[in-house]
This record gives sequence, C-alpha cells and structure tokens, in this order.
Amino acid sequence: MDFSVPSEWLELTRSLREFTASRVDSRWQEIESTDSIPTDLLAAAADMGLFGLSIPTEFGGLGLPMVARALVYEELGRTHAGFTSIIGTHCGIGTTVIVTSGSQEQKEKYLPALASGEIIGAFALTEPGAGSDAASLRLRARREGNDWVLDGTKHYITNSRIAGMFTVFARTGEEPGGKGISAFLVERDNPGLVISNPQPTMGLRGSHVAELSFQSCRVSSANMIGAEGTGYSSALKTLAQGRVGISARCVGAATKVTELALAHAATREQFGQPIAEFQMMQAYLAEMAAETEAARHLAYYAAWLIDQGRPAKREAAMAKLIATETYGRVVDKALQIHGGMGYMREVEIEHYYRDARITRIYEGTSEIQKLVIARDMIKNGMIR
Ligand SMILES: Cc1cc2nc3c(=O)[nH]c(=O)nc-3n(C[C@H](O)[C@H](O)[C@H](O)COP(=O)(O)OP(=O)(O)OC[C@H]3O[C@@H](n4cnc5c(N)ncnc54)[C@H](O)[C@@H]3O)c2cc1C
Repeated sequence: MDFSVPSEWLELTRSLREFTASRVDSRWQEIESTDSIPTDLLAAAADMGLFGLSIPTEFGGLGLPMVARALVYEELGRTHAGFTSIIGTHCGIGTTVIVTSGSQEQKEKYLPALASGEIIGAFALTEPGAGSDAASLRLRARREGNDWVLDGTKHYITNSRIAGMFTVFARTGEEPGGKGISAFLVERDNPGLVISNPQPTMGLRGSHVAELSFQSCRVSSANMIGAEGTGYSSALKTLAQGRVGISARCVGAATKVTELALAHAATREQFGQPIAEFQMMQAYLAEMAAETEAARHLAYYAAWLIDQGRPAKREAAMAKLIATETYGRVVDKALQIHGGMGYMREVEIEHYYRDARITRIYEGTSEIQKLVIARDMIKNGMIR
C-alpha cells in the first residue's frame, strides 16, 4: 500500500493552493455581496487548465486520473464554494457524459472548448417530479425525421446561467424506469430552450441554479450521446465520479474550517486563557481532525478504485455519505468554537456553514447513498 503522491500532482496542488489562497479567499466578501464570481478569477482558473481536469489531453484537457482530480478538488474545496461549484460541476457531471460516452465527432466538436473554459458544461437530470427517483423523469423526446423534439422541464440545474452546453436526459422509449432514457447535447442558444432566472438559494453565492423549459426544442440526432436508451446508465456512471469529487471537496472544506477554528481557539481568550486550553474545545478540534482524516481516506480509496477500473459504486456512495455528513458536523463545531462571532456575516465561517448544507442533498441525498450501499451489499455481499 503506497500513500505517496507523485511530485507532479503535488506541484499542481501547491500552485492551486497559492492561487486560491491569494486570489479567491481574499475576495470572499465580494463574492458574497455581489452573488457572482469575478470574471478574472474564472479566466485565471481557465489559464490554469482547471476546466479541463477530466478531459483527455488529445482534446486539450489535463486528462487527470480520478486520484489526481480528487487532490485538485480537495484544494478547491478549501476556498469559496460558489467558485468551486462552477468548476466542480463543469468538470464532474457537466462534461463526463460526453467524455465517457460521446462519439468522436461530438468530442472533437465540444471537448476543446469545454477544456479551455470557453464553453461551460451543465448536467440536466432533475425535474420537479423526479429528484431522488431520477429514473421516473418525464421530459419527452420524440423522433421527427432526423431530429428529436424535446418537451418538458428540468429544475435546480447548476451553471445554467453561464453554461453553453447542457447534457439533458429525456425519455425516448416507452419502457418504464431507466431503460427508456437517452442523453442529448443541447446548446444554450438552441431554439425552444428557455432558461429561467436563477432560483434563489441558501448558499453557494456566485453559483446559480435555474429551471430549463424545453418547448418543442429540436435537436439533431447527431446530438444524442451514446446509443438510444443508454442515457440513464451514463448518468449513473457520471454520478459515481461526481460523488467522489464532492467527497474530496468536502474534505478540503472540512480541513479549512478546522484551521479557521484552530486559529480562533488559539487567540480568543476567556477566563484568562485561550479557549484552546479548555478540554471541551480540544475534544471538538480532535474530533474534527480525526473524522476529516477518515473521510479523506475513503474519498481517495473510491478515487483509486475508479482509476483501477474496479467496481466503485458502493465506495463512491460511502465516500459521499461519510464526507458530506462529516463536513456538516465539522463546520457546525467550527462555528461553535467561534461563539457569537461565528454567526456574524463578518467572518468566513458563516458562509461555509450555509454552503455545507447542500452537499448532503445534491448528486444523491444521504438517504439515497445509503440505499445504493445497501442494495450493493445485498447483491454482492459484505466483502466483494
Ligand atoms: C443547489 C442545487 C444544485 C443542484 N444541481 C443540480 C444539477 O446540476 N443537475 C441536476 O440534475 N440536479 C441538480 N440538483 C438537484 C438535486 O440533485 C436534487 O435536489 C436531489 O437529488 C434530491 O432530489 P429532490 O430535491 O427532488 O428531493 P426528493 O427526491 O423529493 O427527496 C426528499 C427527501 O426524501 C428522501 N427520499 C427520497 N426517496 C427516498 C427513498 N427511496 N428512501 C429514503 N428516503 C428517500 C430524500 O433523501 C430527501 O430527504 C441540484 C439541487 C440543488 C438544491
């Protein structure tokens, strides 16, 4: 068992830490108050190749394996979640279906622009009537000559405000459940696609979700990704990778808020001494560090399984469940250590607390991760 990290990946994470600490962290108040990510930060991220993390080098991306991507996501998780969400969604669910299942023509047409950040990707699976039970989706695609005509609604779609391309899941067959679902590439300016204003959210300032309405939206059959009826299985494979990405982001965020709490505990004095001297505060800090480390190992193990081409559905679900629930507990304790100040918008911890909440919901709720784990255990036994 080798836990060492290749030097080129360490170099990448070091320069990323420098970038996020000096350029992004320093502007968290601006992001919070304007509810937008400064364009120069997104341009700098594009220059660093961050939009092409998962796109093969032949199409202009960095083509990183999952473990290296997890290292990058961990670094990104430390900084403002709105910034991280745009990049994480693009590199994860926003581009993976075309990378894994797209045709050569689709890859040549879209991947270079997605890798450079010229086009931002989004993933449209969820509907008002189909959330956790995504296989029950109703957005319909009917064949007309050489085209498909899409009708229906998606909601809560991240990056909708800036995306140039959506991976859209639609029902093309009569079979119930996942079997009748296909995936399509739909460009932003495709006639018949109407994108709503952002749907207001609790956190993730600067990253927005919106509703997509497909009104006789005609797309060429060349825009179907993979074979007809394979869309749902592509979505599930994509979500497994996305879940590992979210786990790594949570590990980075949990580490960052623990550092903030540690620094506060060392300097804030009550009863004539730094609060870090009180054993109850020490217990919080120790639990935060130990639980984060456990989540980190699970996230990297799931990433490693993916790189080995081994089954990773169960471990990806475990990593997401544990890392997101851990982050929720860690950020709660970090805020508690800050006392009343932690509740004030003048300190960073307040937005981390709000931003943490979504991680237990999107890309499969904690309850759904438990379902995935248990179903896999029942099918394959406790030890594979
Ligand atoms: C900020 C944000 C960004 C998002 N981005 C995207 C995106 O980019 N693309 C996209 O397609 N979707 C996106 N989503 C949607 C997200 O993935 C869904 O909200 C999520 O999967 C849950 O679906 P739901 O909201 O319909 O909740 P529901 O499915 O209605 O769930 C409600 C509750 O019931 C529980 N529940 C449901 N079924 C079961 C069961 N079988 N057993 C036990 N409990 C169950 C759930 O765990 C949950 O606690 C986003 C959502 C948000 C809030």
